[in-house]
Amino acid sequence: MELSLKDFEVFIKEETIQARIAEMAEKICADFEGKDLVAVGVLKGSFVFMADLVRHLPPETTCDFLRVSSYEGVKSTGKVRIDFDLTQPIQGKDVLIIEDIIDTGLTMHCLMQRLSVRGANSISLCTLLDKPSRRKDDVDVSVNYCGFKIENRFVLGYGLDLDGKYRNLRDVYALRSEVEEAAGY
Ligand code: 5GP
Repeated sequence: MELSLKDFEVFIKEETIQARIAEMAEKICADFEGKDLVAVGVLKGSFVFMADLVRHLPPETTCDFLRVSSYEGVKSTGKVRIDFDLTQPIQGKDVLIIEDIIDTGLTMHCLMQRLSVRGANSISLCTLLDKPSRRKDDVDVSVNYCGFKIENRFVLGYGLDLDGKYRNLRDVYALRSEVEEAAGY
């Protein structure tokens, strides 16, 4: 079944997202006061959230990006691949990983393991959305900053895509419950 935007409904409104980001940023600013903070966006899904979040952070914050693939369509494949890496060393830095959504946790589990050997002063994880009920038992991922904990629904917008589309929507949308089964979710 080919899905389009009409199969989705607004789930988290722009104003709610922005208000929550301001709250999260206040906590992050307090926690990292005086630290050498590097914001690391996990592409592509985090770019909208990251752009809004970092504009609340201290001006000395640096930004870097990496790309990890683990998803095709609406179901997690469990396959994790690093497509490209950070451009700067993180040794001695305080790293804030910025993710769009944590689902099974496999992507973050794998990424954290790889980054943990690079000599950073600290590595923290910030995600806009978290689906805790989907976490795999053998996956150990601790989320330091979470925008919204959500139930197991397929979401798009505000950076999250469906086959590459809809990342530019200002709200987060969720697949309507009446089409979930037909869509195989
Ligand atoms: P995990 O490895 O935690 O299972 O999956 C994380 C990645 O799966 C996210 O970075 C995101 O790209 C994708 N993902 C998980 N759930 C959703 C969802 O509901 N919608 C979209 N568009 N992507 C999702």
